[in-house]
Formats: sequence, C-alpha cells, structure tokens
Amino acid sequence: MNPPALRESRSVCPYCGTGCGVLIEHDGERILGVRGDPEHPANFGQLCSKGMTLAQTVHGSGRATVPLQRVAEETWQQASWEQSMGQIATRWAEIYRDRGPQALAFYVSGQLPTEDYYVVNKLAKGFLGTNHIDTNSRLCMASAVTGYKRSLGMDSVPCSYEDLERTDCLFIVGANVAYAHPIIFRRIEAVKAQRPELRIIVVDPRRTATASIADLFLPILPGTDVALFHGILHLLIWNDRLDTDFIQQHTEGWQELKQRVQEYTPQRVAELCQIAEADLQRAAEFFATSPAVLSLWCQGLNQSAHGTDNNVALINLHLATGQIGRPGAGPFSLTGQPNAMGGRETGGMPALLPGHREIANGEDRAAIAELWGVETLHPEPGYTAVPMFQALERGDLAAIWITCTNPVLSLPDRQQVERALRTAEQVVLQESYLDGETMPFAHWLLPAASWGEREALVTNSERRISHLQAAVPPPGSARPDWQIFCDFAHALALALDRLSVPLPDRKDDSWQQRALRMFSFRDTASIFAEYRRCTIGRDLDIGGLEIAILDRQGPQQWPFPVGAKSGQVRLYANGIFPTPSGRARFHAPVHLGVAEEIDARYPLRLTTGRLRDQWHSMARSGRAASLFASAEEALLAIHPQDARQYGLQEGQLVRVESRRGAALYRLQCDDSLQRGLLFVPMHFGSRYSPAALCNSVTQAAIDPYSGEPEFKHTAVRISAAELP
Ligand code: SF4
Repeated sequence: MNPPALRESRSVCPYCGTGCGVLIEHDGERILGVRGDPEHPANFGQLCSKGMTLAQTVHGSGRATVPLQRVAEETWQQASWEQSMGQIATRWAEIYRDRGPQALAFYVSGQLPTEDYYVVNKLAKGFLGTNHIDTNSRLCMASAVTGYKRSLGMDSVPCSYEDLERTDCLFIVGANVAYAHPIIFRRIEAVKAQRPELRIIVVDPRRTATASIADLFLPILPGTDVALFHGILHLLIWNDRLDTDFIQQHTEGWQELKQRVQEYTPQRVAELCQIAEADLQRAAEFFATSPAVLSLWCQGLNQSAHGTDNNVALINLHLATGQIGRPGAGPFSLTGQPNAMGGRETGGMPALLPGHREIANGEDRAAIAELWGVETLHPEPGYTAVPMFQALERGDLAAIWITCTNPVLSLPDRQQVERALRTAEQVVLQESYLDGETMPFAHWLLPAASWGEREALVTNSERRISHLQAAVPPPGSARPDWQIFCDFAHALALALDRLSVPLPDRKDDSWQQRALRMFSFRDTASIFAEYRRCTIGRDLDIGGLEIAILDRQGPQQWPFPVGAKSGQVRLYANGIFPTPSGRARFHAPVHLGVAEEIDARYPLRLTTGRLRDQWHSMARSGRAASLFASAEEALLAIHPQDARQYGLQEGQLVRVESRRGAALYRLQCDDSLQRGLLFVPMHFGSRYSPAALCNSVTQAAIDPYSGEPEFKHTAVRISAAELP
C-alpha cells in the first residue's frame, strides 16, 4: 500500500500575539512538520523556537479525548457527549431556576479562536443572560484596552508591523520583545542592522535580552512608569518640543495635563524612577527629535494596579507630539496571546459586546439584542477575572465553565483560586490537555479540538485576521470549542423547558426553539458571517471581509468594510478619533507607585515574566523536549550582591515568601537585575517544579479600570530552604 500523500495546510502559530503564519505538513492523520509561511506578512517565513517545534506538541499522550466526570477525589469516569451535556445542563438549569443567571459564569481564553469567542459570548450574554464572562486576556492586555478607550475613544491599535521598518525611534516599555514576541524582535534587529541610526530606548526594571539592542536603557523602579512619562512630557514642554497644532486641533484635556506634569520635574522623576537625570533628558531628546516615534509595550505596563494610568500617560506623549497616524509613529501595544484581539473584537469580556460595543451603553445593547433576537440584555457588566473567583468563593456564583485556560496556575493568589473552585457547586473544564493544575478541581472535563485539528480565525497584534485551516482530525471525540458551546446551548434549552423555567421574554415559545434559532451554526463561516454583521458601521467594520477573501488575498487588517479592496494599515491618519468630540483625550493621572510596598518584613521586590522558550503554563510547549534546553526548571533570579547580603549562593534552594504564601526555587545569580529585585518565570507548574508556583506568592491587587492584576510587583522576603 502506498503511504498517504503529504499535504500542506495554512495556519498561524498558536502561541504569541505576533501571529506568525505557519504551513503544516501532514498526511491527513498526523502533523509531521511545520515551517514558516513565507507569504504571511507577520513573519515572512520565519519562526522562533516555539513555533518551530509545534509539530511535537499535538499528538501523543496527555490529550483529552473523551468527556470525563470526576466521581471521587482523583477518580474520573468516561461519559458520552450526550450523557455529559445532559447532566451538566440539568445542573446549570437548576441553578438558573433557583438562583437566576447571575449565579453562572464563564472564564475563557485569549487562545480561543474568534468564532468560539463569539459563540460563548452569545451563549452567556444573549441566551443565559449573565455577563459574568471573562478571559485570561484580563491578565495581559486589559489595561491596554482601557488605555486606548480612555485616550483614543476605542480599543483600536493604530499601528502595524510595517511601522517597525519605518520608525526613527522605538520606545520599548515593559516588553521583553526578544522573549515574548521573538519574530517582532528579529524584525527590529534587522532594521537596526540596516539603519544603525534607528534609536532604541528600552525601559524595564530588568536588563532583558531586549535591552541588548538599546541605545538608551532606563532601568526604572517597578511602578514608576507614570512618573517617567510625565517627566518626559515635562521636558518636552520645557524644551518647546510639542506639536501645538495637533494638540489644538485633535485633542482635549491638555491644560489639566500640562498643570499636572509641572510637578514632575526631572530631579523628582529621576529620584522616583531611580535613574540618572541625564538619561531622562536623553529619552526626552530622542522622543523630541525623531521624525517618527513608535512605542511598543506589553505586560510591564499592563500588569499593574495602575495599568490604565500607565497606558494613558504613554499615549499622552504621542498626542502631545503628534506622533500618531503617520508611518512609523504611534502607540502600539503588543498582545500576549494569539487571539486576545479577537476576544476584544467579539466582546468576550464582561463589559463588552461584539463589535467594540459596551454593555453599559443602551444603544449598543439594543443593537446586539436585535441581532441576537432577544428583547433585552442585562445592563450591568459582569465580574472580571479576579473578582469572579472571589465571587465564586463567597458563593455569589455557583457554577463556572472554564475553557482553554489554567487559572490555578495563572491567576494571582493561587490559594484563593483553589478555595473558590472547591466551593463551586460545579466546575466544567473544557480543555485539550489533561495535566493542568485546574483539572483536579473540575467536576467535568470536556475534550476540545486543538490547533491544527480545526478551522479557525484569529486576529494578531496588528489587527490582522488570519484564516487557519484544519490539517488533521481531533483525537477521540474531541470537538471544536464553538461546537461544544452550541451543543450545550441545545442541552440547556431542553433542561430549562423540562424544568418549566420561563423564558425572560416572548420572542420564542420555548427555550428549545430559542436555542435552535440562536445556535444552529454549521461551521466557522456561518459564525463569522453573523459576527461580521455586528461590526458594520463600527471602527472595526469587517462587513466586506469574507473568508474567501482571506483565502484568496491572505490575512487582512481591519477595518475592511463592504467594498474595500484591502485592510487598513494605520488608523487615525486624519486626526479624527472615535470620541463624541472627535478629539483624542489627554489624561492626567498621578504617580501612585505599587500596590504593596516593600517594608522591613518583606524587603524585596518580586517581578514575574516570560521565558523565551516556554508558553503560559506549558500545556503545549512542555511537550517539546528541546524547549527545556535553555531552562530546565523555574529559577529565582537575584542580583549577586543581594545573594551575598542574604548569605545565599547560586544553585541553593531558597524560600520566597509574601503575605499570602510561599514557593521554593533554586537561586540564580543575575546581575541584569537591579538591587532589591527578584525575578521568577510565570510558566512552570506543579508538573515541573512542584513547589515553585509563582502565583502562591503574587497578589490579587487589580487596576480599578481594567481589573488587571499587579503581577509585576509583590513585596517578598527570601531565606535558605531545604527540600520538603
Ligand atoms: Fe509563534 Fe510568536 Fe514565535 Fe511567531 S514569534 S513563531 S507567533 S511564538
């Protein structure tokens, strides 16, 4: 018999928000290899270490293949889809009947494709009537969302990757691009090699790999970003380097900000940030004298109890100098996950509705209610991630449906998350892998198809939508997430009708009729067609972007309205912003520092972040052996002089302890850290470093606007430890 013919399917890497195109080599049953897609405009054929090893992460043991019910502490029993859906639906229908929809919640993921996000959002907000649906994107880019909305009027990233090649000054703040977005970093390196005059400023408490290409490195103290940006603006004003025409014609709120930054003198800012005043002056000079300035940022700004302030203070700099809407210029937030952008677009957050609409806005609710064929939508935003798990612990929520994420390892204050999941009446986990830290807390495990096993749509950091083809079938009876949500909607409708739970309005005669009307999607294309209708007339209008166009013309940036020939590279070129006045808004936050200051008992600062070769809680990247070559376990990095001060040595086991809990790590001396600062990677779970779970230590302080937790700073102490 001839071996099956090899084929290639077009896809996108499922790791970071760079969104690199990949070509999957397969025989229709197994994925045999991947290579970078030379035609994808995000990477032009290049892949980083994670992307190159994707083929090793799909097949093999540890995949979820059948629905499982936990019948005792560590005992799972197989069930059919029909049984599992029926039993889960009956319990959710009882909770709905007895306590109402506000006792039900969904916690999803920036790794879900756009069609899944759209369907689960419709299920929660449109069908059930609960706005308690949030995403793990809350942990990485929520502050960028609130920052863009407050400053520019909409959550629309104005820039493109091609601006990397067209800028004169890169201002990289709180982003270790070399590790978190390696292909973007390679593009930057290539530009710098070609044009050495490109100025690169890197701002980070750690001298990261990204800082290796900086002309100016500012190792600010954690939590002093607002002070830094105000200090730069102070100098721009002082040196008469503003774009006064842009300020007058296209912005509002300038006088208040101008007054605010008076307090941020170079001396004061240098002291607050603990940097040299001359370096601050140099940063302002770079900003002032470069024809085009492009800012890149990520978790360093966002994962802060003042993340929104950090974002608006950085955007202020671009508005004050007119550095927006032009080639090579603008504030460009990088998204951590492959489809965090798609989640934002489809309204997969508790305050949002599809098409960048707001739950709190009556017109937005009415528009989506009409589209979904329901009378009204609940008017109050639901819980964001951290409060959601607190509500679960309090008993305000009874059941939670967790999809494609591992909150026991990724949310801050692990002890609280575990208490919450133990308290829940029902935890449903919809996953592709079996070994996550959240699984022991689930009552049900539903197997989801993974990357390469299903068709999908995703949007990367530069608003570019790609169409991913399925290459191989999912293992066992695993299904695409959108299909599981649709199946659940039908099962739930049956259970609600059986319990005679009345519908909230008269638009249908029964729940089953409603489910049939709302969740009869056949495929990705039918979901995308409905979602596109939600975007018409909005800033992200993709009314004209059919899947056939993506297949014919390749990935496209939004907006792409009806009649468009291609997507839009850059936003706000005309200086008109989607605010009521058409003007962008300056904001004038004050420097507030960190949520939990160091003191005599907890005298050290702990920050967390990514490694180059691992991804999130390692469900996928942990399957590629070569990705452990650069880091076999989680290490606690410390400045060598701090190690000496505490009488500790490289390689020694140490206990790091905060007000909430402790973790054990081997010590790594690292002089790229400033004195008093410790660093641990976010990835390693109990499978790899059983006692080194960094979220045993991190805190649940959140930004008041974005709800994003402050992962970048926790007050801790360290001491020598022994193996337990
Ligand atoms: Fe994948 Fe990101 Fe690496 Fe590109 S840069 S290959 S998207 S992990």
